Amino acid sequence: MVGLSCRNPLGENDLHLFRDAWGLIQSPVQVPGSTLVVDAFCFTALLPTVPKIIFNVELDDYGILDQRDCGCAMQRAGFPDHVRDIFSFRKLTGEGMTLVGSTMLRIMEEVLPAKFGGSALDYQLVEEEDDNGFTRLTFVVSPKVGSVDEKDLIETVLDEVSRDSPGADLARAVWRDAGTLRVKREDPTWSTLGKLLSLRPAKKNAGIVFDNQ
Ligand SMILES: [Zn+2]
Repeated sequence: MVGLSCRNPLGENDLHLFRDAWGLIQSPVQVPGSTLVVDAFCFTALLPTVPKIIFNVELDDYGILDQRDCGCAMQRAGFPDHVRDIFSFRKLTGEGMTLVGSTMLRIMEEVLPAKFGGSALDYQLVEEEDDNGFTRLTFVVSPKVGSVDEKDLIETVLDEVSRDSPGADLARAVWRDAGTLRVKREDPTWSTLGKLLSLRPAKKNAGIVFDNQ
């Protein structure tokens, strides 16, 4: 265990670091597929009883490391270091959709039709991998919707995503930076069951599939 939850937390995940067991520093790491840099956590095991010796090992997580006068029992017990707002930076790109799956459904079913016209059936999201193995999210918009400002549509999606999800501010920055979101004008693809797939993988193993129903 790296720490224990603070009883007076700031945000959803706020731990008191077990500073007797772990050394923790932050080191800048470039998020794969983008130019964005985050302060990744690097752990060093301090106890002589650890099963594995690790020294400044990066575990794909980043967040905030600070000290705060929270007044809870953990602080009084001698653990003043808080680790909070912890997110996995690899999830920001490759599996970014796990962060915002339900948000994307709401955007396609409500937000986009209300702003750009058409109905929920005129919008679809396709997850694809580009030649470098990075995830690209393509919004398929039916030509029936008429003229659509593609930049405006992408900005609308980014706004909604960062409003809905904790940690999505960074996803937003990464996605914009990496050009993750695209717009394509064609009719959404219907499956053999007649259902509209909100997300369909372009490749067999491209990842998560959400179903509208
Ligand atoms: Zn506390």
